[in-house]
Amino acid sequence: MKQEYIFIGPPGSGKGTQTIMLSKETGFPHIDTGSLLREEIASGSEEGKIADSFISKGQLAPIELVAKIIKNRLNKNDCKNGFILDGYPRSTEQAEALDKILEELDGNNQVNFKAFYFDVSEDKLIERLVNRRSCSNCGAIFNLKTMNMKETDKCPKCGGNLIRRNDDTEDVAKKRFDTYFSQTAPLVDLYRNRGKLVRIDASLSIDEIHKNLTGAIKENVNS
Ligand code: AMP
Repeated sequence: MKQEYIFIGPPGSGKGTQTIMLSKETGFPHIDTGSLLREEIASGSEEGKIADSFISKGQLAPIELVAKIIKNRLNKNDCKNGFILDGYPRSTEQAEALDKILEELDGNNQVNFKAFYFDVSEDKLIERLVNRRSCSNCGAIFNLKTMNMKETDKCPKCGGNLIRRNDDTEDVAKKRFDTYFSQTAPLVDLYRNRGKLVRIDASLSIDEIHKNLTGAIKENVNS
């Protein structure tokens, strides 16, 4: 049965870190909407320019633009047995758009769909975001504070340069939270009401969250 997982949670809740780990273990592709949009921006396309004007303000990119990018990605061959969708949907309108996309792509296939909700208090989040760095070469994510690293350090995995995302400043991070609470948080109730929600305590350590997540997924696959 095809395994379709979506990850919902506020910025800095650790969805990205967990999807990278889970994707390696399960073989399901990690589809990260924010990265797809950043690739579009880097390509210099017209759509990328439009996306950039929203992302730089901490707002959601336009619904049709994101739906098109997601549909193209989910239609690729590597998604045929399942995928992990990180950062989509991010509003109830996008959840409806996703319903339509999956209806078209899945046809009559049997599907196991779950929404994992990364639940963590707001206090922890801004600190996580302003200390977050990623490797420009291998994409690994680090926290300067918890890993006792300096701004100028190189990636411990591959030696690449560590970079800070443009929207990880305190100002833009706060706007991203406002956007999350007003637009994305209602998805928690929506998927709970559909009986599709699994809550993950995202205040725990990376390894503990990973253990709980893989446990929940095994249960889901066997159910
Ligand atoms: P992320 O890397 O997931 O934190 O996303 C970075 C930014 O990309 C967000 O603050 C939004 O501006 C944009 N973005 C990511 N996912 C979506 C989405 N599903 N819909 C609209 N904009 C998005």
